[in-house]
Amino acid sequence: MSMELSNEGNLSDTEDMIRNIPQLPRLLTIKPYVVYFIHRNASPSMLHEIITEAKQTERFTFVPKYKSIEHDTMSMHIELIQQTVTILVSIDYSHEKDKRTLLYDTLCQFFSIIFHSSNLVQTWGGNLIHKLKPFLSHELFTINQINQCRSSDIQQEFKRWYNQTFIHQICCHHYLQYDDIDGPFCSCTYRPYKSVSTQWSLLKAVAYTFNEYLYDHTYDITKFLAITKLADVNQQQWTIQQVEEYKMKYHIAQKRAITDEGNETKENRQKVPENVVKKQKIIHTNTTTQTTIKIVLVPDPKAPSIMELEPGQIHTKRLFDNSE
Ligand SMILES: [Zn+2]
Repeated sequence: MSMELSNEGNLSDTEDMIRNIPQLPRLLTIKPYVVYFIHRNASPSMLHEIITEAKQTERFTFVPKYKSIEHDTMSMHIELIQQTVTILVSIDYSHEKDKRTLLYDTLCQFFSIIFHSSNLVQTWGGNLIHKLKPFLSHELFTINQINQCRSSDIQQEFKRWYNQTFIHQICCHHYLQYDDIDGPFCSCTYRPYKSVSTQWSLLKAVAYTFNEYLYDHTYDITKFLAITKLADVNQQQWTIQQVEEYKMKYHIAQKRAITDEGNETKENRQKVPENVVKKQKIIHTNTTTQTTIKIVLVPDPKAPSIMELEPGQIHTKRLFDNSE
């Protein structure tokens, strides 16, 4: 099948959309997520819970934070990707203040579970050992432990998948019969990078693949969901037809429906209906300096399942309420 024929109808759409990424529909999230805040005042039951959850997980994503507020504090966000829910663990640990505490013991155990040889650890950009090296001084894990697990740089894998899937048009100056790499003479509008060494930004990867806007959210929540979504596309080796079907199902069909009605306004395009979010469980311990919270965000029970999801429906919503 000819690439040109299958794509032609959507190119102007895509081109129009990427110039205005923030106006695209917001990143669509399917699974509910739970956030655990782990620090020196976290309750023992919560520390116990993250161990239990880690044992039930085989795929993780790491987003280390290199600029923490306190000089000797390790800040790291880790996603535990499970079948029906995604769990975000936000860790703050100071080796000076927290060593030889329950927090220290828990985190040592937590990391040793994660780095098991049967698990996969994902990052966006850069090799896992290189990313975690700055944190070795906290003595929560060792290089040997990190070496045991399988690791995957989703940024590189995405570039490979994207280039093999969205190949150069025959009329592109960079069209080569056996090669899909990026090149300076490429004129394909759906390939924003023109150099072999340039890597995709997460924002553009989400915009070009899903026609969605990766908006900022606390604790890197949207970043994690985007990495996992792109990792899934690569893992399942989506075809160009699958990508187009996704966009058609969730975005283009909706956009056309709005246009047909003659009411397409900026507000309409940006409007994302949000379902009511129910707060299932909040564990909460007040201390003098910090509050320990576990937030559970669940989709509206009336919301459709993944297979029935209708355009524009967002299943999760920020809910950060420690006033109770
Ligand atoms: Zn090209």
